[in-house]
Amino acid sequence: MSKRKCLDGKCFICGQVGKLTYEHIPPKVTFNNKPVKTNSGLDLLTKNDDNPLDTCGITYVNNQKGYGKCYLCQSCNNLSGTWYVPEYQKFILTIHFLVSKPDIVKVDQVHLSLNGLQTLPIIKQVMSMFCSVVGPINDENLRKFLVNQNEKGLDKSKYRVCIYYNRGSISRVIPITAKCSTTDGVVVLAELGFVPIGFLIYLDPKPNQSFKGTDITYFANADFNEKSNITFELNLYEYHLVIPKDFRTKQEIESQSQKLVSK
Ligand SMILES: [Zn+2]
Repeated sequence: MSKRKCLDGKCFICGQVGKLTYEHIPPKVTFNNKPVKTNSGLDLLTKNDDNPLDTCGITYVNNQKGYGKCYLCQSCNNLSGTWYVPEYQKFILTIHFLVSKPDIVKVDQVHLSLNGLQTLPIIKQVMSMFCSVVGPINDENLRKFLVNQNEKGLDKSKYRVCIYYNRGSISRVIPITAKCSTTDGVVVLAELGFVPIGFLIYLDPKPNQSFKGTDITYFANADFNEKSNITFELNLYEYHLVIPKDFRTKQEIESQSQKLVSK
């Protein structure tokens, strides 16, 4: 949908009904300013063949100026663009610069030290995109967190935000999904699997739950203009299916689907 075709609707962040505006998800300054083809997750999951990696014949939408949608009112769109996107852009571009080197991008984990980072606007941008992907939010505290520049702190019993490096060239964006795990039981999460940085947002995590990716929920604890020196381990993943936190290699998927077919 082009910018001109946004209709009236309910803003996914502030909840006001009115004219919606086009928003790039992720921001266009973070590698989202070129044409992309978008497949429907439902089409990919329900295609009728034995090879989950084969996307031939699946219909797609051409997004000429990058991916985006009409989810936010002008005010929410402007404030995230002005307050949050600049630091988020710096963060993404810096990590990509450090990690995308040929000898580094092949390893499974890298140790990163980033200085002078304003962490609050970064995580606010992540949660703003989360709202755009999952639909109108029903959490007053999260709404305040996003519309007030200086509001800080995310309730860790409600949200856990984890980051990873996406080694591939395909994004996957998955709204809230429940996934059964043998170790953690039912896990509820959404995934913003952008290129080159992806985020997993876990909802109502159990106290002893394990997480894929590196937990950066503490980014929300700083003041807006506070600059922090951050050190963390960043996992590098690849993915091929529209299943949240599924980071199996092609070989693993092929081998497991062959076993299922032969049963
Ligand atoms: Zn709004």
